[in-house]
Amino acid sequence: MPAEFVIKDVQTVSWAYLHRHRRWLAPILCGFAYYLAAWLGLKASIMSQGIAIFWPANAVMLAVLLVTSPRRWPVFLLTLPVAEMANDLSSFSLEQSAGFAAANLAEVLLAASLLKISAGLPFKFDRLRHVALFGVCALLMASGIAALIGAAVYAFSAGEQMAYWDNWRIWWFGDSLGLLILTPVLLECIQPRQDNWHHMSLAKRRVEGCALSIITLVIGIWIFAKPDLMSEHSPANPMLLLPVTIWVATRFNILGTALLNLLIAVISIVNGLNQHGPFDTLQQAEHVLRLQEYLATLAFSSLALAALFQELRLQNAQLRVLGRAIDAVQEGILITDAQGSQPIIYANSGFAAITGYSVAEVIGQNPRFLLDNGSDADDTQKIRAAITSRQRVRSIVKARTKVGGTFWNQMTLDPVRDEDGNVSHYVGIHHDITEIMAAESALHSAHQQLEKTNRELEQRIDLRTRELQQANRKLAELASTDPLTGAHNRRYFLDCAHEEFKRAVRYGRVLAAIAIDIDHFKLINDQYGHAIGDKVLQELTKTIESRLRPADIFARFGGEEFFLLLPETALDEAINVAERLLEAIASLRIAADGRADSVAFTVSIGVAERNPHEASVEKLLERADQALYAAKHAGRNCIRSANLQIA
Ligand code: GH3
Ligand code: MG
Ligand code: MG
Repeated sequence: MPAEFVIKDVQTVSWAYLHRHRRWLAPILCGFAYYLAAWLGLKASIMSQGIAIFWPANAVMLAVLLVTSPRRWPVFLLTLPVAEMANDLSSFSLEQSAGFAAANLAEVLLAASLLKISAGLPFKFDRLRHVALFGVCALLMASGIAALIGAAVYAFSAGEQMAYWDNWRIWWFGDSLGLLILTPVLLECIQPRQDNWHHMSLAKRRVEGCALSIITLVIGIWIFAKPDLMSEHSPANPMLLLPVTIWVATRFNILGTALLNLLIAVISIVNGLNQHGPFDTLQQAEHVLRLQEYLATLAFSSLALAALFQELRLQNAQLRVLGRAIDAVQEGILITDAQGSQPIIYANSGFAAITGYSVAEVIGQNPRFLLDNGSDADDTQKIRAAITSRQRVRSIVKARTKVGGTFWNQMTLDPVRDEDGNVSHYVGIHHDITEIMAAESALHSAHQQLEKTNRELEQRIDLRTRELQQANRKLAELASTDPLTGAHNRRYFLDCAHEEFKRAVRYGRVLAAIAIDIDHFKLINDQYGHAIGDKVLQELTKTIESRLRPADIFARFGGEEFFLLLPETALDEAINVAERLLEAIASLRIAADGRADSVAFTVSIGVAERNPHEASVEKLLERADQALYAAKHAGRNCIRSANLQIA
C-alpha cells in the first residue's frame, strides 16, 4: 500500500476518534490551553511585584464558556483550578495558588453569567451593544470583583509591600486587558461566522491586511522598541497607532481588529517588560499602568468601532436589498412625507415606468400632479379624507402620464407610523389597470349586447309561440267544429261524452242523451234548394244552442242529425227539454222565395237515460237513436224515449 494512503487512513481514524470523544476532549484541551496561557501570562508579563500586567488565561476559559451551554460549564470550569495550580505552585505557595484559582474562577464565571443574562449565548462581538456589555460585565464588574480576591491573597501573603488598592488596580487592569485583547480573537476563531466583507475582494483584503500588519509592526517597533536608528531623530508618539486601528476597524471585521490589537499588545508588552517604550521614563508601576491604559483605550475603541461598522454594513446591506427589491416591483411605489406639503421622498423604477416621469422629477412634489382633470371628484375627495384621518385608502383614479396620456390608476395608500405610533409617511402603491379596465368594459358591452340579443330572441319566440298557439287553437277548433253550423262535431262530442259518462258512472249520477233528426229534410232541399237546406241546419243549431245549459254537450253528427248529452239529468227532465226543443223548432220560419216565413219544418226526437248496467256512452247514444227511429215510425214531429213513450 502506498505510504500516502496509510497516512490518510491514520488521519481519518484519529479525527473520527477525536470527534467521538469530543465531549471529554474539549474540556481537557480547554484546561491545557488555560495552562499555556497562564504560563505565558506568568512568565512573559510578570512584574517585579508578582502580578501579571496582562493575564490571557481567563480569556481562554471565558471564550469557551461563551459558546458553550451553561449545563456544560462545570466540566470546563473544573479544569481551571487544576491548570492554575499546576502553573502557580512553582512560584507561589499552595494557599496563594488556591486563592488565585478562586479569583480567576469567580471572574470567568461572573463574566460569562452576566453576559449570558444581558446578551444571550452564544455571545458575539457583532454589535456595538455587545461590545459595551462586554466592557461593563467582563472588564469592569467581573475583573474588578475578581481583583478584590486577587489583591486580598497578596495582602494576606507574606512579603508584600504594595498597598491593597494598588494591587487591586494592577490585577484588575491586567485581567481586563487580557480579556479585552484575547477574548474577541478566540471567540471569532472558534465560532462559525458570516463574512460581511462583500465590499472587498479576497485578494484586495489580503494585500491590504499584509500592508497594515507591516505598517503596525514598523510603527509598533518604532514606538515601543525605540531602535536608535528611528527614534534618535524623531521620537514616536504612541497615538500614531490610532489611525491604523481606526483603519482596520472600519475596513475589516472584528477578527482583523482583534488580531491587530493582539499584535500591538504583544509588541508593547514584550518591550514594556524591558522598560522600553514611550513611558520608559516613569517608575515601573506607573509605566505598567500607563501601558495598560493605553492598550485598553486603543483596543476597546477600535473593537467598538469595528462592531459598529459591522452592524452598519449589515444594515446597509439589508437596506440595499430592500431598495433593490422595491425597485424590482413592477407596480409604482411612492413614499411621501406626512408633514408639510407631503412631498414625495421615494419613487421606484416601476413608478417611473408607469408614469413616464423620471424618479428625480417626482421627488419633492406632492403626488396630486398625477391626477387627471377628468378624475372623479368623489374619488379625490375620498383620498383627501383618508389622508386627513390617517386611514388606509384604496381607489381607482384617472391619472396623467408625463407625455399627456392618461391611465387608470388603482392606488392604495397606507399610513406609515413611527416608533411612537404617529403617522410619519405614506406609502402608495400604484397599479396601471388601463388594460384590465378596457377588457372589463369590452366584456360589459359584450354582455349588454348579448342581453339585448337574448331579449329580442325571447320576444320573437314569444310571438312565434303565440302564433303557434293560435294556429293550434284554430286547428283544434276546426277539428272539433262543424264548419257549416259552427256546432261541435261528432268527434268532439264523443270525446266529451266519454268523460261525462265515466264521471256519471264513478259518482252514480244520472245522464241523459237526446237524438234529433229533421223530418223530410230531403224534400226541403228538393223544394227550396241546397242553400235553404243549409240555412235550415244553421237556424236549427242556433235554436238548440240558445237553450242549452253550460254543462250540456251538443253536436251535429252528420247530415241533419244532431245529438245532445245532458249531465245530471234524468229521463223525465230530458223529455221536458226535448219537448221544449220540439216546440221551438216547429215554430221556426226560414225565408225563401221572397217570403220570410216560407219554410217551416219539424224534427223527430229520441231520448234515453243512462242504464246502470250500460257499458259505454255509445250504447246510450244507440238507444237514443233507436228511440228517434221509433219517433220517425210513429209519424215524425214527436218524441220517443228508450223506456217511455210520449205522444
Ligand atoms: P226522414 O224524415 O226520414 O228523415 O227523411 P229525410 O228526407 O229527412 O231523410 P233522408 O236521409 O232521406 O235525407 C237526408 C237528406 O239531407 C239527404 C241530403 O241531400 C240532405 N243533406 C245531407 N246533408 C246536407 C247538407 O249539409 N245540406 C243540405 N242542404 N242538405 C243535406
Ligand atoms: Mg231526416
Ligand atoms: Mg236523417
